[in-house]
Amino acid sequence: MMDSDDVLVIGAGFSGLYMLHRLRQLGLRAQVLERAEKIGGTWLFNRYPGARCDIESIEYSYSFSEEIQQEWVWTETMPAQPEIEAYLNFVADRLDLRRDIRLDTDVTAMTFDDDSGRWTLQAADGETFVAPFVVAASGILSEPLEPDIPGMGTFAGDSLFTSRWPAGGVDLSGKRVGVIGTGSTAVQMIPVIAREVQQLCVFQRSPAFTLPWQVRQFEAGELDEMKANYGEIRQAQRQHPIGAARLSAFSVLIDMLVSPPIKTATRDEQVRAVDERGVMGALNWGDIFFDIEASRMATALYGEAIARIVRDPETAAALVPSHPFGCKRPIIDQGYYQTYNRDNVTLVDLRKNPIRTITPDGIDTAAEHYDLDVIIYATGFDAMTGALTRIDVRGRDGVLLRDVWAEQGPVSYLGLAVAGFPNLFTVQGPGSPAAATNFVTALEQHVEWIGDCIAHLKAAGHRTIEAMPEAQHEWIEHTTSLVAATVLVHPSCNSWYNGANVPGKKRMYMGYTAGIPEYRRRCDEIAGAGYAGFLLA
Ligand code: NAP
Repeated sequence: MMDSDDVLVIGAGFSGLYMLHRLRQLGLRAQVLERAEKIGGTWLFNRYPGARCDIESIEYSYSFSEEIQQEWVWTETMPAQPEIEAYLNFVADRLDLRRDIRLDTDVTAMTFDDDSGRWTLQAADGETFVAPFVVAASGILSEPLEPDIPGMGTFAGDSLFTSRWPAGGVDLSGKRVGVIGTGSTAVQMIPVIAREVQQLCVFQRSPAFTLPWQVRQFEAGELDEMKANYGEIRQAQRQHPIGAARLSAFSVLIDMLVSPPIKTATRDEQVRAVDERGVMGALNWGDIFFDIEASRMATALYGEAIARIVRDPETAAALVPSHPFGCKRPIIDQGYYQTYNRDNVTLVDLRKNPIRTITPDGIDTAAEHYDLDVIIYATGFDAMTGALTRIDVRGRDGVLLRDVWAEQGPVSYLGLAVAGFPNLFTVQGPGSPAAATNFVTALEQHVEWIGDCIAHLKAAGHRTIEAMPEAQHEWIEHTTSLVAATVLVHPSCNSWYNGANVPGKKRMYMGYTAGIPEYRRRCDEIAGAGYAGFLLA
C-alpha cells in the first residue's frame, strides 16, 4: 500500500503546527488532523473571560523562526487568549500550514498493524487515514473533566464549561452566576466576571494559592528593544530549567528554593515578609517544598496575609488552602482576593458544606440553596493522558493504551513513546518536563527530537521504533525519584500533576522536574547512542 503521508499529526495547537512545519523542513510528507473547526488547540477552546498566559509573551512563543519572532507584535507582557489565538493563526499563514491541516476531523480510533508497520486512524465521520508514523500533539490540558454532580442535567439555566467557552462570548450582565472550581482558570475568570454579573457565588472545594501579578501593555519601543536582543533572550530561556528566564510564577518558585527556611525564622522575620510582600512574602521560604511542617507554617502565614486583604474574617479563613504550596501549578492573578470584598460576590466553602445536588433553579449545598441563572464549570482536565485515552489507541496485539495506563499508571519512555505502541510519538507525554515548565520551550525540544528521529529512521531504512519496557521502567523510576522527597507526593496533594483530580486515575507524578536542559541532554544522548532504550526494526 502506498501512503500519501509519512506522518499523521493529531492536533493543530502549538505542538501540531510546529510539528507539521518541522516535518516539511525535513522533507517528510505530513498531515494534521484537528477535531475543532479552527486551529489553536487549548488556546482556541479556553476562551473564557480573563483567559491569559502566565509566562511572558516574549518567551511563550516559538523561537525556531527569527522572521516570526521579529514580525509578530505582542501588545502585553503576558498575552491574553485572543492574542495567542491570533498569533497561532498568523504562524499558520506565515508558514503556509493550512493546506496540510484537516479541520473538523475528530480521531476516535487508531490501530497499529504489525504486518504493514502502519497506523490506521479513524475519524468520527468514518473517514480513515493511514501512515507509518503518528505524532500525538493532542495537548496536555485538552480533555475537559466533567464533574459527576447529582442533578447536573436538570439545571434549567445555562451550563457553561470554561474549556469549551462559546465563540463570541456570553453576556453575563444582570445574571446570578455560580462558578464551580477555584483552580488557575477560575482564579483568572472570577475577578473579570464579578464586574459584570449581578451576583456571583464561588463554589470552592479546594482554595488555591495564588500570587498577585501585574500584567501591562508594552510601552512604546519596549518590545522593539527586546526583539533587538532576542538572541540573548532565547539563549537564556534555553538554558533555564523551566524554559523561561524572565519573571514568571515558575521563576518565583525557583527563587523560593534558595530562600532561608521558615522553621528557623523568628516571628518578626515572618511578619516582616508579609509586611513587605504580602501573600508572596508568606510563601518565600526554602524549606516549604521538602518539609510538610514548614509548608503548614507558611500556609498559616499565608492565611494572615489573606486576612489583611479580605475584610470578612469568615471568608478570609475559608480561602486558606489545605494542600501544600507547590503541589499544584502556581497561579498568578489580578485582584483575586480583593474580589471577595465586593458586595455581589459570595464564597461558598464546600469543605464545610459540600454540594448535595444541582436543581433546576440552582445549587443545593448541605446548608443552603443558591438561586442561579448560569452555572460555570471551571473543573479542570484529565491532564497529560486524557487526550489519548478518549481515543481507542490499539498498539501491538490489539492492546489498548487506555488499559495500559489504567493498569500501570501513565507510563512512558521520556514522555515521547509508550512500550507496545510502535511508531507513535507523544509530544509532552507523561514523564516529560511539560507540566512544570514553559510549555512552548518544552514542545519545541520534543518536536525537533521527534522530527530528527523519524528522518533518521527513514534514512536508515528502519520500519519501526518502539520503546523497550525496561527503559520505560527505568525512566519512570528516575522521574518519580526526583520528587520523592518533596511535598508533591504528600497524600494531601491532589493535583492534575499526579492524576488525583480524576476519580479512579492511577496516582503517579507525571512531570519531569530536573529541568529542560537536563532533559534535552538526556534525549540527545539517547539519540546519539542510536536511540538507546528503543528497539529499531
Ligand atoms: P484545576 O487546576 O484542576 O482546577 C479545577 C478546580 O475545579 C479545582 O478547584 C477543583 O477542586 C474543582 N473541582 C473539580 N471537580 C469539582 C467538583 N465536583 N466539585 C467542586 N469542585 C470541583 O483546573 P484549571 O483551573 O482549569 O487549571 C488547569 C491547568 O490549566 C492549570 O494548572 C494550568 O496549568 C493551566 N491553566 C493555565 C492558565 C494560565 O496560564 N494562567 C490559566 C488556566 C489554566 P479540587 O482541587 O478539590 O479537585
